[in-house]
Amino acid sequence: MLTVFGSIAFDTIRTPTKIIKNALGGAATYAAISASFFVKPGLIGVVGYDFPRKYQSILDRFVDSRGVVNAKGKTFRYDGSYDLTLSQRTTNKTELNVLKDFKPVVPEEYRKSEFVYLANNDPVQNTKILEEFDKVKFSMCDTIEFWISSKRNDVIKMMGSVDSVVINDEEAKLLTKTHNLIKAAKKIMEWGTKYVIIKKGEHGSLLFYDDVVFPSPAFSMENIVDPTGAGDSFAGGMIGYLSSKNSTKISTIREAAVYGNIMGSFAVEKYGVYGITGLKKSNIKQRFDRYKNMVHF
Ligand code: AMP
Repeated sequence: MLTVFGSIAFDTIRTPTKIIKNALGGAATYAAISASFFVKPGLIGVVGYDFPRKYQSILDRFVDSRGVVNAKGKTFRYDGSYDLTLSQRTTNKTELNVLKDFKPVVPEEYRKSEFVYLANNDPVQNTKILEEFDKVKFSMCDTIEFWISSKRNDVIKMMGSVDSVVINDEEAKLLTKTHNLIKAAKKIMEWGTKYVIIKKGEHGSLLFYDDVVFPSPAFSMENIVDPTGAGDSFAGGMIGYLSSKNSTKISTIREAAVYGNIMGSFAVEKYGVYGITGLKKSNIKQRFDRYKNMVHF
């Protein structure tokens, strides 16, 4: 089984062509929905009294949401703007709200999860919750500038407690205080994790382990609408695929990184979660096959 823990949010997304307010978002939301095309994940997170029924029913369609708690207060909110190229995002506002003092509990039914994804979230909560699982075979975490700036030491501790770290290029540089991604990955591995996956947006990803680097390009896209959640969809696709194979073999991890790129490419095609909620398994298979042809030489 796979469990995903992290933020569930109201997102305000400002692109040069459109502003979307209070859309269903959150790192765990994207990751869990993306993973659901491979296995049915359990989701742990917190929402407030303002979380609408229609968003809850989207979650229920894709995931086991027995781990989603309704707390007194407002749902976590994120507000971000993209530049003209849609490749740079500026955070306008992060309101933690109910996420701030959340004390997550792993439901009994999820305790035996062998795969655990700690999506972007408070690193202290992430590290603590990992200890509550009985037999984790593969764990993975992500983070974002907000946590690197406010809780850097806790982020490092979290990264030392998981099997793999998935992180975007800018955040990897910020966290490790270096400009070179190979140096950044090596530094993160020194903190105790075995695999580092650096996401490079439209340029794909680099998977590092031992002395090896496995680069995989992004699926080439002409029309990008909203990149929000691409990184989370990448991670969800990756760990969802691994969980479906119940394997942590390196060949499977490399394949999983390709599925990550494929799921990320769907996420950017529509606003909010709609790039992935409208998918069928056959769309994923088709794009995976095209990708295979694309990179074959
Ligand atoms: P991505 O575009 O993959 O980097 O992820 C964007 C998602 O992360 C949005 O849906 C946000 O709601 C969520 N998010 C943004 N900032 C934070 C934060 N500080 N902690 C947790 N989740 C966040």
